[in-house]
Amino acid sequence: MFGSRFHCPDCGSSDAFRSRRRTFLEKYILPFFLLKPVRCANCYLRMNASALIPVRERDHRPVHPHAAA
Ligand SMILES: [Zn+2]
Repeated sequence: MFGSRFHCPDCGSSDAFRSRRRTFLEKYILPFFLLKPVRCANCYLRMNASALIPVRERDHRPVHPHAAA
């Protein structure tokens, strides 16, 4: 939980992108707990990770269809 590197709980990838903060929770509550929304670069699972974990900035590739909702 307090690891310094991203590790996807689903596919085990260590590569992730920063995700947009959409909800009140993500904008105001998660930062309070040092969490941020990230998306796995491999399987596109969206999750909250420690704000201390370095992840890549979003690029401009189209959003994965399964992640669009
Ligand atoms: Zn993954």
